Amino acid sequence: MKDISDIRADFPLLARRVYDQKLVYLDNAATTQKPQCVIDKVSEVYTTYNSNIHRGVHALSDMASEEYEHAREKVRSFINADSSREIIFTSGTTGSINCVAFSFGERYIKPGDEIIISNLEHHANIVPWQLMCERKGALLRVIPVNDIGEIILEEYQKLLSPRTRLVAVTQVSNALGTILPVRTIIDSAHSLNVPVLIDGAQGIQHGVVDVKEMDCDFYVFSGHKIYGPTGIGILYGKGKWLAEMPPYQSGGDMVDNVTFEKTTFGDLPFKFEAGTTNFVSAIGLARALDYILDLGRNDISERENILLSYATERLSAIKGLTIYGNSQNKISIISFLLQGIHQYDAGMVLDKFGVAVRTGTHCAQPVMERYGIEGTIRASMCFYNTTEEIDILVSGIGKVITMFT
Ligand code: PMP
Repeated sequence: MKDISDIRADFPLLARRVYDQKLVYLDNAATTQKPQCVIDKVSEVYTTYNSNIHRGVHALSDMASEEYEHAREKVRSFINADSSREIIFTSGTTGSINCVAFSFGERYIKPGDEIIISNLEHHANIVPWQLMCERKGALLRVIPVNDIGEIILEEYQKLLSPRTRLVAVTQVSNALGTILPVRTIIDSAHSLNVPVLIDGAQGIQHGVVDVKEMDCDFYVFSGHKIYGPTGIGILYGKGKWLAEMPPYQSGGDMVDNVTFEKTTFGDLPFKFEAGTTNFVSAIGLARALDYILDLGRNDISERENILLSYATERLSAIKGLTIYGNSQNKISIISFLLQGIHQYDAGMVLDKFGVAVRTGTHCAQPVMERYGIEGTIRASMCFYNTTEEIDILVSGIGKVITMFT
């Protein structure tokens, strides 16, 4: 793998200072910083061939359309989908889940049907299903988690029944870092012919994702969490489902023939891409994926695992610090609380030392309730972080403790 100083040099923002201190950016689960090549790519589109896709006969439109479709193909190969028809560009993970919840719901869900999610879900993988259940008279069932933040598989097996129509679970918990046993979850659901949606918002950037090998029916993620631009996301769906599901939104670009009497829809993937999509960010995302491939996905995981072990060891040694989420199967996220100190106070003081962490529920209120807490302080690391930065976090926590006790 590239030398860490060369990697960090690829990300211009990492060199900035805050409050005249070196920035220590440990909020990568919320959004990642962008390498210069992605920033340049977005700028290149706007400065050389910006033009609406799939619409014009002119040179610029052709170039933009070609790059956009090339980006789709890049995403397809990155997750090893069968066909680029199965890759839908959306606004993000939230947009992708809403699309499936609405469209799958319209097509397949009847009163009394059940959808299974887990107690670890981000609100984006809870609320769209709740709304769908309300619309359709269906029921939401929830897989519980144990004390160390793992889902209880035996309870999941009990929830699966002939009434189950869909399972929607996260690949990795954004609040605790737990990696879920998605392959087992999918196999059990498939034994009852139940499709599975995997929320890959926190999974895609930490290792190799192969949707064919995983055998998920839907896989969703956001560009901004994998070093790409904001406003772009992916919905992968097996062709057999997407072909049968009705459009989510409608308008231009997703139609075949429009008359006042009847409209017919375009083929996949366009049926699910109404209006002008964020084609510039899609092209930027493809550049980000190339950057990741150049670094090497296995090398990225390895580096992040080293950071996680180092940070876990250092944070665990701090008196009065409790880590939430202690599964052996974790990505480089540490969620913690300091005895007698409110998480917001700790977060705000750490910020003054240049350390950017997240505090609060992390849009995963039900899992916070599971542990009887209002929220946590979350340090989320990725391959461009260093052990020196973790040392700065640890020394910052020490100062917080001294200040408040
Ligand atoms: N699911 C998970 C597990 C997440 O971590 C997030 C973002 N924090 C989302 C869904 C929603 O992603 P977005 O806001 O990019 O749509």
